[in-house]
Amino acid sequence: MLVTAAGQSYREKQVDTLNRSEDLMTTMEMPHVSECTVSDCSYNHDGCHAFAINVSGNNGTAECGTFVPLSAKGGLDRVTSLVGACQRADCVHNQDLECTASDIRVGAGGGDDTAHCLTYQRR
Ligand code: SF4
Repeated sequence: MLVTAAGQSYREKQVDTLNRSEDLMTTMEMPHVSECTVSDCSYNHDGCHAFAINVSGNNGTAECGTFVPLSAKGGLDRVTSLVGACQRADCVHNQDLECTASDIRVGAGGGDDTAHCLTYQRR
């Protein structure tokens, strides 16, 4: 096992860094992904395990830009996913390309959207 100069394993150091990052994000009051029902996403195993998601989309859609349908499951050990950035400037919750909703839900959308921000609401 590799050990840092401070005597921590690299895994322990990664967890410490993530905890500090989470504290910073919480301070900034970024919205959480309270629910995701997209079961074929690699980050979804009993909830979204991505550290943060981005929302994009065209023509009035609000796709989850972090959706990835690989055979492997991944992400963090815990479910604390945040909304990192959102390109849907036409959403009532969007201010300066940041989401101001208290939390968002992700699920299947209309058309070709596999993963869609269900909290999206056109201005
Ligand atoms: S609620 Fe609106 S601003 Fe927030 S992530 Fe969804 S589309 Fe973007």
